[in-house]
Amino acid sequence: MANNDISIPKRGIERAKVLEELSQFAKEDPDYRKLKTWSLVYFLGDEHTDFLLKAYGQYLSANGLNPMAFKSLKLLENQVVRMTANLLHGGREAAGVMTSGGTESCLLAVKTYRDMGRAVKRIRRPEMVLPETAHVAWEKGAEYFGVKAVHAPLRKDLGVDVDAVRKLVNRNTVMILGSAPEYPHGIIDPIPELGIVAGDRKIPLHVDACLGGFLLPFMEKLGHDLPRWDFRVPGVTSISADAHKYAFSAKGASVILYRSVEILKHQFFVHENWPGGVFASPALLGTRPGGAYAAAWASIMALGEDGFLANTAGMMEAVKKLKEGIRAIPDLEIVGEPKTAIFSYRSSSKEVNIFAVADQMEQRGWHIDRLQRPDALHVMVTPLHLQVIEDYLIDLKTSVDHVRRHPELATKGGAAMYGMISHIPLRGMVKKTVLKMFADMYGPDAKMISPQDTTMEGEAPAEQPDLATRAATWYLKLREKFRR
Ligand SMILES: *Cc1c(COP(=O)(O)O)cnc(C)c1O
Repeated sequence: MANNDISIPKRGIERAKVLEELSQFAKEDPDYRKLKTWSLVYFLGDEHTDFLLKAYGQYLSANGLNPMAFKSLKLLENQVVRMTANLLHGGREAAGVMTSGGTESCLLAVKTYRDMGRAVKRIRRPEMVLPETAHVAWEKGAEYFGVKAVHAPLRKDLGVDVDAVRKLVNRNTVMILGSAPEYPHGIIDPIPELGIVAGDRKIPLHVDACLGGFLLPFMEKLGHDLPRWDFRVPGVTSISADAHKYAFSAKGASVILYRSVEILKHQFFVHENWPGGVFASPALLGTRPGGAYAAAWASIMALGEDGFLANTAGMMEAVKKLKEGIRAIPDLEIVGEPKTAIFSYRSSSKEVNIFAVADQMEQRGWHIDRLQRPDALHVMVTPLHLQVIEDYLIDLKTSVDHVRRHPELATKGGAAMYGMISHIPLRGMVKKTVLKMFADMYGPDAKMISPQDTTMEGEAPAEQPDLATRAATWYLKLREKFRR
C-alpha cells in the first residue's frame, strides 16, 4: 500500500528530481495544451506561456503589500490600472487596484459598498440586488460580509429583468449588480437600463466584467453590435475585469476599478495600533504576489491593441463556426442569444439527454462543464480553439447520435448523477451533503497518494468518486428511505 501520510523528507531531494516528480502530478489533469478544455485555462500557446513565466519570474519574490517598498510593483500596478481604466472609458478620475483574481475583485466591491452605505447613508442591514445569473463570487461576498443577496429574475432573453430590479431596491440596498457578460450563458445584462435605476435611486452599480473586460472593448472595435456596458453608461460606479482571463495573463491577476477615488477609499483598510507597525492595505490580501502583476503588465504590453484585436477576431470566428455547427446538429440549441465568446447549449428534445452527451464527449477526451437550470453544456472559447472546432463538432454529432440511439444512457453514469443533482428539490440537503464531502476531501482521510507512489507500486490509485457521484449515491439512498 502506498503511504497515505507524508512528512517533510528528512533529507532534501535534488531539485532536478523534485521537478521531475512534480510533473508527474499533472498526469491526469485536463489536457489544455491540446485544447481539450473549454474553461479554466486561457491558453495562448507555449511561446506566450514561456514569456509569462519569465515576466513572472522577474518579480517572483517582490511583495506588493507595502507600496512604498517595491516601487516597481506600484508602478506596474498603476500602469495596468490606467490601461484598463482607459480601455473601459473610465477617464482620468477612475481609480482602482490589482487583485489576485475575479473573486477578490467581487468581494472587494461588496465590502466597499457595504462600508460606503454605512458611512454615507447609515445603512445597518445592507442588501444588494443580484441577477439570478450573477457569478457565485457574489454569493460568497454576501456570506462573508453579511450583505443580504436579493435575487432579481431574468427576462425571456436571459438578461436581468430591470423592472424587477427596480422593485427590489429599497432603503437598505448598497449596490446593484449587472454582468458583462454573465458566466453561465454569456449574456450581457441591460446595463444602460440598470444605470437609470441606479441613477434614479442613487445606488452604486457594479458591472462584473471579469470575463468581458478584456474582450468586449475589442469586439466593439471590430464592429460587433454590443449594448453599452462600461463607464460610458451613467450610473456605472465600478467594474471588475480579470487579466487572467481574456488578457491571457498568468493566474492571479484582476483589476477592480471605481469611477472615482472617493468610492475606492471605502475599500482601504488601515490599522494604526498594531505592534507590527501602522498597517495599511488597499485590497484583500496581505502579501501581494508581484509576479502576477508583472505577468499581467507584460501580457497586455506584448499583446498590444493589435494582438487583442487579432485574438478577438479569431475567437469570434471560432464562436461563429461552433454555433453554426451546433445549430446544424438536430436536437441541440444555443441557450439565449449570447453575443460573446462564452455560451451554452442544451437539448431541445426529450430523446437527447444533454448530460449523457457530456459523458460521451468526455469519453472522447473533451473536458466538459455542465450547467443546471436549465441543464446545458458550457463553452468558453479562446483563439486557439479555432484549430479544434471541426473535431469538436464531429465528436458532438457522434455523441448526440449515440445518445439518441441509446436512451438508457440518460440513467447511467454521470448523466444520471448530474441530472439528479440539478433536479433534487431539497437544495438544503444538497448543500449539506457537499459540505460533508468537502470535509472528507480536506479532512484526515483525504486522498494523499502521490503519482510517484502509484508508479512505484504499479497499481492505479483507487478511484475516488467525484462530488456528483457521491451526491447521487446519497440521493438514491435517501429516496429509498422515504419509499419505505
Ligand atoms: C471568473 C469570474 C469571476 C470570478 O473570477 P475568479 O478569477 O475565478 O476568481 C467572477 N465573475 C465572472 C463573471 C467570472 O466569469
